[in-house]
Amino acid sequence: MTVDELALQIRQAFESYWAGHPEISDTQYDALVRQLREAAPDHPLLEEVGAPQVAALGEVRLAAPMISLDKVYSLAELLKWAAGFARQDRDELLLVQPKYDGISCRYDGKTLVTRGKGETGQDITDKLPLIELETADYTGPVDRPARGELLIRPDRFEKLRSVIRSRSNTVYRNTRNVLTGFMMLKNSREIEQVLLGMKMSGGFLSLVDYGRFSFEVPLSKLEAEWENLLERINALPYPMDGIVIKFADEAFRQSLGSTAHHPRGEMAFKFVNSRSSSVLENVEWSFGKNCLTPVAEIRPVELGGTTIRRATLHNARHIQELDLQIGDTVVVERAGDVIPHIVSCTPGAERRDALISHCPGCNTALVWKGPELTCPNPECFETLLCRLSAAVLALDIDNLGDATLRQIMKQYSVRSLRGLFALSRADLARLERFAEKSAANLFESLQQARNCPDYRLLAALNIPNVGVNVAKVLLKEHSFAELRELPEEALSAIKGIGPERAAALRRVFTEEKAFIDGLLDAVDLQSSTGKSAAETVCFTGKMPEKRSFYESLAREYGMEVADQVTESLTLLVAADPAEQSTKLERAKKWGTLIISPDEFLKRCPPKESAAQEEQLSLF
Ligand SMILES: [Zn+2]
Repeated sequence: MTVDELALQIRQAFESYWAGHPEISDTQYDALVRQLREAAPDHPLLEEVGAPQVAALGEVRLAAPMISLDKVYSLAELLKWAAGFARQDRDELLLVQPKYDGISCRYDGKTLVTRGKGETGQDITDKLPLIELETADYTGPVDRPARGELLIRPDRFEKLRSVIRSRSNTVYRNTRNVLTGFMMLKNSREIEQVLLGMKMSGGFLSLVDYGRFSFEVPLSKLEAEWENLLERINALPYPMDGIVIKFADEAFRQSLGSTAHHPRGEMAFKFVNSRSSSVLENVEWSFGKNCLTPVAEIRPVELGGTTIRRATLHNARHIQELDLQIGDTVVVERAGDVIPHIVSCTPGAERRDALISHCPGCNTALVWKGPELTCPNPECFETLLCRLSAAVLALDIDNLGDATLRQIMKQYSVRSLRGLFALSRADLARLERFAEKSAANLFESLQQARNCPDYRLLAALNIPNVGVNVAKVLLKEHSFAELRELPEEALSAIKGIGPERAAALRRVFTEEKAFIDGLLDAVDLQSSTGKSAAETVCFTGKMPEKRSFYESLAREYGMEVADQVTESLTLLVAADPAEQSTKLERAKKWGTLIISPDEFLKRCPPKESAAQEEQLSLF
């Protein structure tokens, strides 16, 4: 293909994409752009296709032009890039972040500007009423400076899509197309009309700060951790088309500079939408709180650069709908933002039923509940174990994994949290293969978990978009008991909550009433209603004692322990305050108090009895 032919093809694909009817896949499109970049690096089209279309208030000159990232498609390419720039004298720390599929934007406190083309961006400040900002520790109106990606969460996509279809008779196939639809709204009157039509107060576009999710991993562990990172990032509820990997040391990253097109210290790993065929070898049924969940075990197959052995089957009804049986040939797809799933199947020569009729735990005949198969036996050990395990997770009880829980349930016939809290230290010490120290640790964790702050209990219910911070907002003016009784409209009216969270809260409060009653029955709930927020502390670096030692001390003194340094953090305890790390850099940026582990121990001295026990258990 000549350069002109290539450019023509890219232009056609680009236009059809933005018209909402993409003709080729993203991967094919990227390949074309790559070809053009190699053949004619200065082609004007390259700049043009980098920028999404918006109806803007005007163009803004960017102080520091945002340039796009270079891309790789396999782990091998990624490792090669990182090793090529890493300094020899250290194990380089990398930051791994989602690569959101939206519009890159910057808000400086006054003006919202898109990345646009090279040195100029588009002013889209008029779209602010549509947008909700999400940072690591804040969700709400865009009221503070941020750099992030403007996007539509898939959970809001369906609703928006139907409204837009009825307004303009345009069919949108993906979140990105809907986003463009919004961006093409020309004036505040149009925006108001949309808001009215949606019966929403705004906030159905999200501006996700780039620091919202960030995983740290040393280069030496990247390969081993890769699958795990992919899984964690894939589980996030955002449209994504890949992962961004960058050197964590910002000064070093900047020092690497840029090529004509890309910064050298960052790289995008693009998901490739790929399909492959395999054979269904078995279906594994795992116990959940309320049902049995099927997972397909397939003959190992290469997909998007990794080996796939398992694929989700969603629920039992899905197996029926696919008419899937063991031994069938299946088509497995790994699309960008989901875990591998089975698209279709063709009957194999020898087939065996993939559904089960009896509980693999207690052999009771299973019953259908909606699309799920459930065990109706109220004493089903495995189901009870799952429920208790969910409660343990909900209360954040340390030192209590499923294996230990299973043992406790068997040995002491414990079936509820209440029973768990009633265990004595001696009971725990009698558990098989349980050292005295483990028993003491577990006992301590259980006692701690009994004193449960109300916001932790609420956050632990796994309600979509209700984390610790939102829970604190909810509990500021209403007690936990009051919240459970509030009608949806009243929940929705609480500042910063909105109709979607309200609906989810109402649903969980109703459907999980018995589960929540059980939790409340077993804990001493600490009310935070009407009180100011607790101190939050984060730890970094290699401490003289185990990290858990400091964390439990902090909790004993009423502090919240955070994994990341955010603007609201009150204290950062650093093993070496002079060290260069992202956490320390951020803390300095926000003026967070930084102290050494020794200073921390002076503030929060370990209590006498605990220290003695620690010594005893050493012998
Ligand atoms: Zn059962």
